[in-house]
Amino acid sequence: MQTYQNTVDGTLTEPASHYEIFNPANGQSLGFAPESDEQEVDRAVQSAVDAQKSWAERSDQERCETVQKIAQILEENSEYLAELITREQGKPLSGPGSRFEMQACVGWTQVPASLKLAPEVVYEDDERKDTLHRVPLGVVAAIVPWNWPLMIAIWQIIPAIRMGNTVVLKPSEYTPIATLEMVRLINQALPAGVLNTVTGDGAIGSKLTHHPDTNKIMFTGSEATGRRIIEASARNLSPITLELGGNDAAIVMPGTDIKAIAMDLFWGAFLNMGQTCACIKRLYVHDDDYEAVMSELSAIASQMKLGDGMDESVLIGPLQNNMQFEKVKELISDARSGGCDIREFGDVPNKGYFLPLTLVGNIKDGQRLVDEEQFGPALPIIRYSELEDAIGCANRLEAGLGASLWADNATDASELATRLEAGTVWINQHGAIHPMVPFGGNKASGYGVEFGIEGLKAVTQSRVISIKK
Ligand code: NDP
Repeated sequence: MQTYQNTVDGTLTEPASHYEIFNPANGQSLGFAPESDEQEVDRAVQSAVDAQKSWAERSDQERCETVQKIAQILEENSEYLAELITREQGKPLSGPGSRFEMQACVGWTQVPASLKLAPEVVYEDDERKDTLHRVPLGVVAAIVPWNWPLMIAIWQIIPAIRMGNTVVLKPSEYTPIATLEMVRLINQALPAGVLNTVTGDGAIGSKLTHHPDTNKIMFTGSEATGRRIIEASARNLSPITLELGGNDAAIVMPGTDIKAIAMDLFWGAFLNMGQTCACIKRLYVHDDDYEAVMSELSAIASQMKLGDGMDESVLIGPLQNNMQFEKVKELISDARSGGCDIREFGDVPNKGYFLPLTLVGNIKDGQRLVDEEQFGPALPIIRYSELEDAIGCANRLEAGLGASLWADNATDASELATRLEAGTVWINQHGAIHPMVPFGGNKASGYGVEFGIEGLKAVTQSRVISIKK
């Protein structure tokens, strides 16, 4: 069985120890992941420090060309990496699964390489000229979760290196293998030390984020860990980009053609088995449309095939890990004992972390499945009679990553959109992120944005050159 390796200073390292990784669909061993010790974190950060100056001194064009080479490597190795993602993370090859994740990796690599962030004259008169330059921060500590392991790693790595930083990446302990393989492959295009990895549990992540030689932290994960990251950043006064998930509300406006939106609502909620930061996690539906929503979503859910995602006909895989499996089961069981209408769909295999696609009706705000981020395939559908109340419900929680409004007339929805407290409000779509469009949370969903020009700025610091004429 293969033991996968970290890349430090352009070289694959021999792990101090390792642990076994299992396929969440069937429990089969996938091989061994390395476990970094504290010395390896020090070596990885040192290698990033050593490489940073000369990487930053290269021309912007040269760095963009290198990033385009990375996009090519990702494209050439897409199928290999997609299969690893499916085996390790669980999302199917087909549909919006691991091949889709690899396409996103390519797109989110190409776009930052094609953007320009030129120095900007911010003020000029007869006496002075002030120009704002964007310079790299130094070493970026990138901490990645297990739900979209490669795509989120790319979101963090690519803008950082494009702008002249170097990176030490820590994948989630649940999904290190595909990420390590991706990093090994893309290192072929990079000078040694520009992109390094360390692996292990939260303690290794903590060592990395506390390291005195890191200058920026990029983190996607839970709110609890996000708060620890903020504490860690105090040591170096490191700026942080924090994406802390959400509990996104979707509101279907009264009288909407439910059949027309049902498929998009379904994938908005069940993408990656609901293990997506910006998924519909609470669906608010007018009393008059409630039965139609239940029946249209039931009809779609009943046609989805659950199973091992290596089977091309499967569109719904397992949950990624036991922690998440138990958490979602507990929330469903709480809803069941609270008298909710639980409707389950799909033939659940007898091995692996599978749960049926679950629609939960007759549920109210204040019940755990509504108020807590389920991050799994169980969608609460909450009735409302007044639109104003639905807006209040959507804004009631601390989370504020995404929200959506669904209506036949997008203009009506746009008027309400500014009242929803979220980093992105989608209309007639949900989770429709794009590499040119800034994405980030409001309230307890974090701060800072990724993607587009704003995302590039987030991995730089400003330097003003001010000339007296
Ligand atoms: P975590 O926030 O614990 O994990 C995210 C990443 O942070 C992992 O790489 C993890 O490492 C690392 N980490 C953990 N502790 C520290 C630390 N002290 N310092 C630095 N890095 C650290 O999420 P969980 O995996 O525990 O999931 C818990 C819940 O979070 C889920 O049920 C879900 O609700 C939410 N979540 C949201 C995500 C999103 O996309 N916004 C993604 C994942 C989870 P390791 O895994 O090795 O412990």
